[in-house]
Amino acid sequence: MEIKDNGDLVIRAPYKTKKGYIEELVLRNRLWIEKKRKEVLNRIRSRPPFCQREALPFLGRDYPLVFNSMSKGVYLSNDKGFILPKIRCDELYDCVKKWYIEQARELFYFRCRYYMIKFNARFFFRISNAKTLWGSCSSKSVISLVWRLVMAPLDVIDYVIAHEIAHLRYKSHSKLFWKRLESIYPNYREMDRWLRDKGGGLYL
Ligand SMILES: [Zn+2]
Repeated sequence: MEIKDNGDLVIRAPYKTKKGYIEELVLRNRLWIEKKRKEVLNRIRSRPPFCQREALPFLGRDYPLVFNSMSKGVYLSNDKGFILPKIRCDELYDCVKKWYIEQARELFYFRCRYYMIKFNARFFFRISNAKTLWGSCSSKSVISLVWRLVMAPLDVIDYVIAHEIAHLRYKSHSKLFWKRLESIYPNYREMDRWLRDKGGGLYL
């Protein structure tokens, strides 16, 4: 179940799923759906469009945008910020998005490997573009992580990875799930709160 930026609800189900089952699912989750929908629409309304932004987040820090006609791509300098080429705004958006996805792929790979080895967890990971979930875990042990997470502090990224690793063993948010998560990432409550409070700022 996913809420799109325009507020539409999208449900993905196997081809043979009965319509009645999906309708019941929507009915059962209607409060969650309405709440999420309001959240998404409010978040979108209060966001400045990409072309008007003056800073972008990366690993928990906001960096100013510096335009330079000599720049051929996207560069991040610790003291100057994002050095960006002077190109059309929609082209720049694609460029910056590509840059984030590359950073996410590299960083998440190393963090996943760290947790894989430390907790003897077996899974594959992929980068996702989901709008309302930060991570998910499939029945085939594939952990999906949203590239926009690379904008968050490393602790938050680690928390999401740990959360999905705990889901490899326990699908629902049961007591055993939280116990397992705590054993992988003891400070999970704080990071969960960070995502709830500030996750809306991780957008492009
Ligand atoms: Zn979960």
